[in-house]
Amino acid sequence: MKQLRPIKQLIKGMPSTDGDGVQLTRIIGTPYLDMLDPFLLLDAFGSDKPQDYIGGFPSHPHRGFETVTYMLAGKMRHKDNAGNEGVIEAGGVQWMTAGKGIIHSEMPEQEQGLLAGFQLWVNLPASHKMTEPRYQENSKQEIPVEVREGCKISVIAGTTKNNTQGVVNNKFVDPNYWHVSLTKNSALSELIAEDHNAFIYVIEGSLSVVAELDSKIKSVTKGELAIFGSGNEIELLADEDVEFLVISGRPLNEPIERAGPFVMNTKEEIHQAFADYRSGQF
Ligand code: MN
Repeated sequence: MKQLRPIKQLIKGMPSTDGDGVQLTRIIGTPYLDMLDPFLLLDAFGSDKPQDYIGGFPSHPHRGFETVTYMLAGKMRHKDNAGNEGVIEAGGVQWMTAGKGIIHSEMPEQEQGLLAGFQLWVNLPASHKMTEPRYQENSKQEIPVEVREGCKISVIAGTTKNNTQGVVNNKFVDPNYWHVSLTKNSALSELIAEDHNAFIYVIEGSLSVVAELDSKIKSVTKGELAIFGSGNEIELLADEDVEFLVISGRPLNEPIERAGPFVMNTKEEIHQAFADYRSGQF
């Protein structure tokens, strides 16, 4: 039975700084929204002022989860201690499974101009926190785009109702990660599995959410994250030309201990992560 998901909460990000002075907006991972299982963090960065991004994210470790970088503009170079290196350009994605541990840097590959994009942290289940590190990296050209009337969906991960399959695969939380553009008055109607936590983040413009009558929140505008309530479909109408991310995933429902770049299930595992990092075992 079709049940449209209402919006249950609207979240605005907080200005934040990370890496070597990079200015960003933290949207998940704040006092307002600590996490949305399995998503631990969402940062949006976007500036044409070099001083806001030039410091980048010098060498740092991760263990226990995945980092997903999706670029809207500009270029970032990544490099890690396993010998992987590459440049992510506008429209490209890097889905990194840090697993048992990686040390990497993420640096702007430009000295001027606009740098914009997102970083999402996706938790790993306890059973796979110590898995071997893995990269899935794809350029804009490699990401499938589904075109409908007034609607374009770049399918980074997951599968649309018309069976367009994302370029990234992830068996842990079965995520959807779509970048959607709608022209004014067009609609997106999609299926989102009932057991997923789901949200949208509006990059540009504004949209209305079609849902059950009791939903108080009807519209979502630029810079807002909207968390969906229960149901199995979403229906969104463009009030004007609008661009947004649709992200969902199966919650893990496991205990979480987080400390900076490490996200594990117990305090002991966090202590172990620091000890392993210090003793050069990453
Ligand atoms: Mn990182």
